[in-house]
Amino acid sequence: MPAYKNNLEVLIKQDTKQGMGLIDHEQTDTFHMWKFRGGSTTIYEENSVYFESNDTKSNKKILLKVNKQTNQYEIILSVTQPTFIVVKDIKSSSGSEYPIVVNSIIRLGRVEYRVFEERNIQMEILHAPIKHQDCQQINDINKIYQCRFCFMEGNQSRDQLFLTNICKCAGNSQAVHLECMRYWVDSNITREETQFGLSLKWKKQHECTICKESLPIRVQFENEYFDLFTLERPELQYILVENVNREKNVCCEIYLIHALLQDNIKLGRGFQCDIKAQDITVSRHHATIKLSKSNFVIEDNKSRFGTLVSINQKCEIDCAACGFQIGKLLINLNQQDQILKGAPSTQHKLTQLPQISKQLEEDEPQMDDDSFQLENK
Ligand SMILES: [Zn+2]
Ligand SMILES: [Zn+2]
Repeated sequence: MPAYKNNLEVLIKQDTKQGMGLIDHEQTDTFHMWKFRGGSTTIYEENSVYFESNDTKSNKKILLKVNKQTNQYEIILSVTQPTFIVVKDIKSSSGSEYPIVVNSIIRLGRVEYRVFEERNIQMEILHAPIKHQDCQQINDINKIYQCRFCFMEGNQSRDQLFLTNICKCAGNSQAVHLECMRYWVDSNITREETQFGLSLKWKKQHECTICKESLPIRVQFENEYFDLFTLERPELQYILVENVNREKNVCCEIYLIHALLQDNIKLGRGFQCDIKAQDITVSRHHATIKLSKSNFVIEDNKSRFGTLVSINQKCEIDCAACGFQIGKLLINLNQQDQILKGAPSTQHKLTQLPQISKQLEEDEPQMDDDSFQLENK
């Protein structure tokens, strides 16, 4: 049993500047700061002030709860905002890296990537949940649909799937064959083989040409997932990542990253990067994706606005220090003596209150972090 510090240091910093809704990680010294030390403790927020208490205060909003257990700290984050791990603040025996798995949302400045599919080391394929239930389960099997592309008619069936409400088009132009749609979407994609797998890039916005509604990239029918584009999966461990245009909430790029990647994958604005993001809030070489102990992980490369990964429901980090970003707040947890003495690090078991994980699944994280006014909550 590793010896561990009785007191976990909790540091809360608040960025009060208005701006793009991003936190400039090079400026955090100027932020408002609160510091707490405690074994088991709860930190409450009241307006924009944080205070610590060992008593339960049911009328106050919990920001963070630390439960000291036999050989680990359990950390419960209670917020109504999406919570992200600040990758560079992780200090563990394997450095500062964080696994990216199905459903992870990765933010580099304003640019957002989502892992929507994963084949894990056990070769199971895992899908991120889909909001678009686009080929609905059809109760009325006698209903005849007509494809708006090829004008052929038919019933909804597994071999001849009609998409029925992927955009706002109604009436005769409502239904379209999945196959016809895929043919059309493929013609709008540039494919390129890369050292890590494959990249697919949309030439024009992925939207309906008639009603201009953003289109999904996948649909679900009877618990099965279907892509609206053609992509053969390799018979090895991989992740599928989409780059989401956050203004329109539509996919503009897809990357297949497989476990035979030849080199670490550089993400950033610079021309030397494998995954390029043309946005001023992205550093030239912002982050790196690599394989670490058979997991795909991401590392930050001293980026200005940080590399953030959403916290999934099941989240355990074996580390001596870690940090979270919630809106305009940074929360750092530290037990640095662990590192200095070289003792095995204590596990921080990170869990979330149910409503948070629910929110992460249901809601898109919003960009307008500026609206995160503590006073209004
Ligand atoms: Zn058709
Ligand atoms: Zn439409």
